[in-house]
Amino acid sequence: MSIVVPVYNEQLNIEKFYEEATKAVAGLDMDYEIIFVDDGSKDTTPLILSRLTQQDAHVRALILARNFGHQLAITCGMDHAKGDAIITMDGDLQHPPAMIPDLVQKWREGYDVVQTVRKATDDAGFLKRLTSKWYYIILNAMSPVHITPGGSDFRLIDKRVLETFMRFREHDRFIRGMIGDIGYKQTTLSFIAPRRYAGKSKFSGRKMLHFALDGITAFSKTPLRISFYVGLLSGLLSVLMIIHVLYCHITGQAAPGWTTTMIVVCLMGGLQLIFMGIIGEYIGRIFEEVKQRPLYWLRAELGQKKD
Ligand code: UDP
Ligand code: MG
Repeated sequence: MSIVVPVYNEQLNIEKFYEEATKAVAGLDMDYEIIFVDDGSKDTTPLILSRLTQQDAHVRALILARNFGHQLAITCGMDHAKGDAIITMDGDLQHPPAMIPDLVQKWREGYDVVQTVRKATDDAGFLKRLTSKWYYIILNAMSPVHITPGGSDFRLIDKRVLETFMRFREHDRFIRGMIGDIGYKQTTLSFIAPRRYAGKSKFSGRKMLHFALDGITAFSKTPLRISFYVGLLSGLLSVLMIIHVLYCHITGQAAPGWTTTMIVVCLMGGLQLIFMGIIGEYIGRIFEEVKQRPLYWLRAELGQKKD
C-alpha cells in the first residue's frame, strides 16, 4: 500500500501525521510506504522529510522544484507509488489517518475506488459550505460526469485504476472528477473533517475560484455551447426584427435611412454571434482532443488469450 501526501509549508503537521498514519497501518499487516510530496515549501518541511526518510525506510519524499499546486503534487506522488492500493490524503490531519483501515477494508471487499465524502467541516464557515454545495449542483448540471458533492481528495484507488489514471496527462486537472469519470467499482465512505491540526489553509479565495473553474472547464463544454445558443437566439430575434422593420417601411412609418440601418445592424449582429458559436463548437472539439485522454480502458479481460 502507498500513502501519498502532498505537503506545502506543513512543518507543524508532518510529524504528527507521520505518527498517526504509522499507528493506523500498524494493525493492517500490510507492506506500506508513505510518500510525501513537498510542493515547493518555503519552511523546514523538506528538512523534516529528509530526517523521516533516514529514520524510517517506509517513508519516501519527493521534493518538487517549485510549487505546482495540490492537484499536481498528488499526481506526482501517484506516479511514483508502488503499492497495490494507493491512498491519497492531506498532510494537515483533516483527512483522519485513523480511517485508513476502513478504506483498506472496502478495498479488500473488492472495490477499486473508495471515495470519501466530507460530511461537515467544523473549520469551514457558512459561506464555504454554501458555495461548495451550490458549486457541486451547478457542476453536475453542466457536465456529463457525476461528481460526488463534498468529495475530497482523500481516497483509495486500486493499482489498476492508478495505471489508467496515469494515462490521463492533462495539465489543468480536477482529480476528483477524473476519478469519478474513470469507472471501475466505486464506493463512498463519509467522514467528518476535523479542524486543521496546525497552520492555515493554503487555499486562498482566488485559488479556490481557479480550482472551481478548472472543475467546470475540464468536464464541460457548456460555457462554450452557451455562445452558440445565444447566437441562434439572437439570429432568430434579428429575423423577427427585420420583418418588423420591413413592415414599418412598407406602411410608411419609417424615417428615411432607418430601414437599411436596422437591417444591417440586426443581420450583422445575429450572424456574428452565430459564427462565434460555431467557432466555440470547434474550439470545444480541439479542447477535447488536446486533453489526449485515453479512448477507453478495461476493467477486466476474460477468457484465455490465444497465440
Ligand atoms: N497543498 C499542496 N500544494 C498547494 C496547496 C496545498 O501540496 O499549493 C497541500 C497542503 O499541504 C495540504 C493539502 O494540500 O496537505 C490540502 O491543503 P489545505 O489543507 O491548505 O486545503 P483545505 O483543507 O483548506 O482545502
Ligand atoms: Mg486542509
